[in-house]
This record gives sequence, structure tokens and C-alpha cells, in this order.
Amino acid sequence: MKDSPKQQSPALPELLQGRRQLAEDETFRFSCHDGLSCFKTCCADVNIFLTPVDVLQLSRKLGLTTTEFLDQHALNPITKDLNLPVVLLKMESEPKKACPFVGDQGCTVYHERPWSCRMYPVGSALPPAKVGVDAKPVYFLFEDDFCKGHGEGQEWTIADWRKDQGADQREELEAGFNEIVSHPWFIGGRQLDARRMDMFYTGCYDLDAFRRFVFDTTFLTRFELPEDQIEKIRNSDDELMRFSYQWLRYALFSEPTIKVSKEAEQKATKKAEAMAAARQKNKESEENKES
Ligand code: SF4
Ligand code: SF4
Repeated sequence: MKDSPKQQSPALPELLQGRRQLAEDETFRFSCHDGLSCFKTCCADVNIFLTPVDVLQLSRKLGLTTTEFLDQHALNPITKDLNLPVVLLKMESEPKKACPFVGDQGCTVYHERPWSCRMYPVGSALPPAKVGVDAKPVYFLFEDDFCKGHGEGQEWTIADWRKDQGADQREELEAGFNEIVSHPWFIGGRQLDARRMDMFYTGCYDLDAFRRFVFDTTFLTRFELPEDQIEKIRNSDDELMRFSYQWLRYALFSEPTIKVSKEAEQKATKKAEAMAAARQKNKESEENKES
């Protein structure tokens, strides 16, 4: 698969432009197997965008924390037209630029393979955010000449293909992620500042760093979480991931998705009062100087 993204930014990416869009009931015929002359050749020199679940599952498969995985296996391209940080799987060095996970028999992380790999030849994009409209992905078919799987095997609808490739369950876990990237807050081209970009990156991709943020800082004194939720997010990566989306909506868009503790509220009120008093004092001293 070449450059097959799960698109996150509102605009349609260049590599999906001109691709055939697939309606829900449209079918395509496709089969990938080791009898094809192209087998494994697509697992090199390819842009694979990783989703939060991809990062988490690959990390766990490799026995790494998400922080270690991102350090060792990911790239974070920065371009001015990207609204949000993205994560690309790092290929090995020249000349082959092979995927680090391709082996003699094929993909060595097959059960945890990224969304883009499992969904190929299908790519998807989220349409631009609109107020009051749930963003539904649109699907495209990659009909690359190098891929000999086209026209092979059975016919698929998008729904059948997603089910066969195990995409449904992963997408359920990532629903909160899609809600964030297509959030109406972004309408009109608004951009997150650097601090919030960083929050987004940690909350979405570096789940183990987010875990440290929750459990190794004053987080649990600043926010009121039910005890049973604390236990769930302590013991389950999936629950922690769902919670990170809940927290991000609060942290990025100021939505009341998480309750600030009374103690933190009182501290914030005192801080605001102290700042107002200091401003007033400054103003009075400036007025005294002038008179
Ligand atoms: S993760 Fe697996 S399927 Fe995807 S490019 Fe690498 S080897 Fe190929
Ligand atoms: S059929 Fe397509 S996806 Fe499968 S190995 Fe060949 S090029 Fe890759």
C-alpha cells in the first residue's frame, strides 16, 4: 500500500484527490495474498499515518511504552497546512526504506497492523466540521497499478471490508478522536496554540505519558472523578484512551466534560482575585504618579 492515510485534517489530502469515491453500497473486488507477484513489495517507502489505536496496539505488541514506540518508530512531520499533529510510521533507511515490521512471510505485526495497512485499498477522509452535523467519513478506492490484488477474490462493500479487516472495533475506540479532529471549534480555520497542540499529541498518541500526567501529578486533586472511573482508567488502556478524549474536549475546547474539584475552583478564584487586586494596585500607583 502506498501512502494510504486515515485522514484527520478537515481538507481532503492531496493523495486522495482524484481517487474514486465509494458509496456505501458500491462494491470492489480485492484480495491480497502471498501468491501475487507484488506480495510485500508495498511494505516499503510508504507514508503510513498512525492512529492513536495503531500506536497503542503496536507499542503493546512490541513490549514498549507509547513514549518509547513514538521515539523509536514514529515521525512527526511539521507542515504549515497541518491543523493538528500527525504521526507517521518511520521506515528503515535507504535504499529499500522497508517497513520495520515486514518479514519473510509478510507482516510480523499482522494482528496489530495499522489502520491504513488493514484498510488498503480503501482510504478515508473526514469532511470539514459543520455545526450540528456528525462528521461521517467518506471512503475512496486506491487503484494503484503496482497492486495486483485488484479484481482478485470476492466482492466487498465498505461495511464488509471494514468488518473483515477488524476495523469496526478499533474505530469504536477511536470515535472520541474523530469527534475531536472534526470538532466545530475548528470551523473558520481556527488553530490550536502550541501548548494545546502538545496536549492533543499527548492525549491522543502518547497514552503512557497521559497516564503519568493523570496518576503522577496533582491531576486527581484538580478534577473530580468518580472512584470507579479512576479504577477503570488505572487498569485499562482502552478506558484511559476514552478518558483522554473526554479530558481533551475540556482542555482544548473548554467543554464541561470533566468536573473541576472544589479545591481547584477555590484556588483559581483566589488566583483571579489576587491578579485583579494586583492590577488595581498598579493602576492606582500609575494614577498617583500622573497626579
Ligand atoms: S505494518 Fe505490516 S502491512 Fe503495514 S507496511 Fe509494515 S509490514 Fe506492511
Ligand atoms: S496485493 Fe496490493 S496490498 Fe497486497 S501485497 Fe500486493 S501490492 Fe500489497
